[in-house]
Amino acid sequence: MARLLEYLNIHHTIGEELTKDEFISLSAGKRYRPKSDKIYYLRISRCCVIRFSKLIGFRIKRKMVTLMTLIRESRFKEIC
Ligand SMILES: [Zn+2]
Repeated sequence: MARLLEYLNIHHTIGEELTKDEFISLSAGKRYRPKSDKIYYLRISRCCVIRFSKLIGFRIKRKMVTLMTLIRESRFKEIC
Protein backbone atom coordinates (compact mmCIF):
# COMPACT_ATOMS: atom_id res chain seq x y z
CA MET A 1 0.00 0.00 0.00
CA ALA A 2 2.80 2.43 0.90
CA ARG A 3 4.54 1.65 -2.42
CA LEU A 4 1.35 2.45 -4.29
CA LEU A 5 1.03 5.75 -2.42
CA GLU A 6 4.66 6.59 -3.21
CA TYR A 7 4.13 5.74 -6.86
CA LEU A 8 1.10 8.05 -6.99
CA ASN A 9 2.95 10.75 -5.04
CA ILE A 10 0.46 10.76 -2.17
CA HIS A 11 2.03 11.96 1.07
CA HIS A 12 1.57 9.63 3.99
CA THR A 13 3.14 8.36 7.18
CA ILE A 14 3.33 4.83 8.46
CA GLY A 15 3.37 3.85 12.08
CA GLU A 16 3.03 0.78 14.19
CA GLU A 17 1.86 0.04 17.66
CA LEU A 18 1.51 -2.97 19.86
CA THR A 19 -1.93 -4.47 19.88
CA LYS A 20 -4.19 -5.22 22.75
CA ASP A 21 -5.81 -8.63 22.86
CA GLU A 22 -8.82 -7.44 20.97
CA PHE A 23 -10.55 -4.23 20.18
CA ILE A 24 -13.93 -3.08 19.01
CA SER A 25 -14.24 -0.81 16.02
CA LEU A 26 -16.99 1.70 16.79
CA SER A 27 -17.51 2.62 13.15
CA ALA A 28 -17.81 -0.95 11.92
CA GLY A 29 -19.42 -2.24 15.10
CA LYS A 30 -17.21 -5.32 14.98
CA ARG A 31 -14.89 -6.99 17.42
CA TYR A 32 -11.40 -7.68 16.11
CA ARG A 33 -8.78 -10.03 17.42
CA PRO A 34 -5.47 -9.15 15.76
CA LYS A 35 -3.47 -12.03 14.28
CA SER A 36 -0.12 -10.47 15.11
CA ASP A 37 1.12 -8.53 18.10
CA LYS A 38 1.50 -5.34 16.08
CA ILE A 39 -0.88 -3.25 14.08
CA TYR A 40 0.24 -0.87 11.39
CA TYR A 41 -1.50 2.31 10.47
CA LEU A 42 -1.21 4.38 7.38
CA ARG A 43 -2.07 8.05 7.61
CA ILE A 44 -2.76 10.11 4.53
CA SER A 45 -1.46 13.68 4.90
CA ARG A 46 -4.10 16.41 4.81
CA CYS A 47 -2.58 17.90 1.66
CA CYS A 48 -3.19 14.68 -0.25
CA VAL A 49 -6.55 13.50 1.09
CA ILE A 50 -8.43 14.69 -2.00
CA ARG A 51 -5.83 13.12 -4.30
CA PHE A 52 -6.20 9.87 -2.36
CA SER A 53 -10.00 9.96 -2.71
CA LYS A 54 -9.74 10.48 -6.47
CA LEU A 55 -6.94 8.05 -7.27
CA ILE A 56 -7.54 5.27 -4.77
CA GLY A 57 -10.51 5.71 -2.46
CA PHE A 58 -12.18 2.80 -0.72
CA ARG A 59 -13.99 -0.16 -2.20
CA ILE A 60 -16.09 -0.47 0.96
CA LYS A 61 -18.93 1.95 0.41
CA ARG A 62 -19.31 2.90 4.08
CA LYS A 63 -15.64 4.02 4.18
CA MET A 64 -15.89 5.93 0.92
CA VAL A 65 -19.02 7.78 2.10
CA THR A 66 -17.25 8.70 5.36
CA LEU A 67 -14.22 9.94 3.42
CA MET A 68 -16.30 12.09 1.08
CA THR A 69 -18.26 13.53 4.02
CA LEU A 70 -14.99 14.35 5.77
CA ILE A 71 -13.67 16.11 2.67
CA ARG A 72 -16.88 18.11 2.26
CA GLU A 73 -17.06 19.16 5.89
CA SER A 74 -13.38 19.78 6.58
CA ARG A 75 -12.61 21.97 3.60
CA PHE A 76 -9.46 20.09 2.62
CA LYS A 77 -7.52 22.01 0.04
CA GLU A 78 -5.63 20.38 -2.76
CA ILE A 79 -2.15 21.60 -2.00
CA CYS A 80 0.02 19.06 -3.78
ZN1 LIG B 1 0.69 16.06 -0.18
